[in-house]
Amino acid sequence: MERTLVILKPGTLQRGLVGEVISRFEKKGLKLVAMKMKQLTPEILDEHYAHLKDKPFFPWLKAGMMAAPVILCCWEGFEAVRTVREMAGATNARKAVPGTIRGDYGMSSQENIVHTSDSPENAKIELDRFFSPGDYCEYPSPLQQYLYAPDEK
Ligand code: UDP
Ligand code: MG
Repeated sequence: MERTLVILKPGTLQRGLVGEVISRFEKKGLKLVAMKMKQLTPEILDEHYAHLKDKPFFPWLKAGMMAAPVILCCWEGFEAVRTVREMAGATNARKAVPGTIRGDYGMSSQENIVHTSDSPENAKIELDRFFSPGDYCEYPSPLQQYLYAPDEK
């Protein structure tokens, strides 16, 4: 099964939306396999958002991501990367379709509730950035047959 990184951003914690957002992924049928709360640092954000380092908003983005702790989650499921990304919606939350997480809870292109990995390759890199092997929990999924067909794995 594929794994993807979700970061609940500082605004999500401050606005009391952590439970709501996690609940969406749970209800969808994704499996939570690792989770922790962390205060991010300039160093890790320079790495995580390296593709944006020349953008004028980069200092604001970094400050926003350090304004309070974040919740780091690893969700597992069949085609989890694409599924989670589509649940998050467009980067600019004002343009994100209602029904998506950003579309329902956000008004900003910066303060947009969640980070989600954008490809299976980047998901692996990002998960390694924030989690060590011992952070992942293995536990049975007794509802598997009610969530998936036999070839969806
Ligand atoms: N961002 C921003 N202004 C923009 C584009 C992006 O502040 O015009 C921030 C926003 O918080 C976004 C993050 O930079 O989530 C990473 O940007 P990316 O293009 O990777 O978007 P995402 O993958 O989060 O949708
Ligand atoms: Mg991105």
